[in-house]
Amino acid sequence: MTEFRHLLGIEGLDPPAVTALLDLAESYVLLNRSGKTQRDLLRGRTLINLFFEDSTRTRTSFELAGKRLGADVINMSVSTSSVTKGETLLDTAATLNAMNCDLLVVRHNRSGAPALLAQKVDAAVINAGDGTHEHPTQALLDALTIRRRKGRISGLTVAICGDIAHSRVARSNILLLTMLGNFVRVVGPPTLMPAGIEAPGVEVYHDMALGLAGADIVMALRLQKERMTGGMIPSTREFFNFYGLDRAKLGFAKPDALVMHPGPMNRGVEIDSDVADDPLRSVIREQVEMGVAVRMAVLDRLGRRKF
Ligand code: ASP
Repeated sequence: MTEFRHLLGIEGLDPPAVTALLDLAESYVLLNRSGKTQRDLLRGRTLINLFFEDSTRTRTSFELAGKRLGADVINMSVSTSSVTKGETLLDTAATLNAMNCDLLVVRHNRSGAPALLAQKVDAAVINAGDGTHEHPTQALLDALTIRRRKGRISGLTVAICGDIAHSRVARSNILLLTMLGNFVRVVGPPTLMPAGIEAPGVEVYHDMALGLAGADIVMALRLQKERMTGGMIPSTREFFNFYGLDRAKLGFAKPDALVMHPGPMNRGVEIDSDVADDPLRSVIREQVEMGVAVRMAVLDRLGRRKF
């Protein structure tokens, strides 16, 4: 099993490491549901949530996860607008080292920023989403959700739909799902498909009927307009007609296919409320619950050790 000091991406993990994290997270699901906490585990440790980009679910779930394990949690939201980004990161690293922080959760709009910080800080760094690169805890929580619902996390067909080009969620999911022996289909318009996405276990589709046929899981992704330069789709209405996940398109997938979305959702753009809120098919709320458990597992794994 790979030993890792930071969690910068799914890249770098191996199947035993992923499985161990999912198993540990599973124990935290049960603990959270029982209403108990483990406040001794990270007592005296400091967790800083350093967010250079907006977040609701990820930041609050890391905060909750840290507090449930007894860490002192500090939230820092930093604007990147007024300062040169390289300087900011290096200055920030020096400040954080002076504060003796143990765990640093970083979200940044530049791919690679958490990796750069990891070279400069003494803390264990956890990537909470960097540009279009990776969002490893999202892929882990998606895998835990799938494993709990389907009873396995291998041999499944997972259709990831919409804005693949700008999605770090898609990248981390592709890495994790193919590593564990699943089949990934990325489905979207050619303008939102990154070059070189084809890989062993990954197929590209531009048609929802073909891409969703026989899928076990259908994951819709948000149109990430903040990362688009120029218009990459004719209109959101047009996008919804072709790629928005609604009841009719979900009908192409297996009858028991699950609907997922990392949030935040643009209802009526990439997903219709009818399927997003369907308690029999949608596991979107469960994904949020699994997010807390997975982040507890990651903090547990990285936070107990002193380097
Ligand atoms: N919350 C996810 C992310 O930070 C997905 C999204 O923003 O659409 O990448």
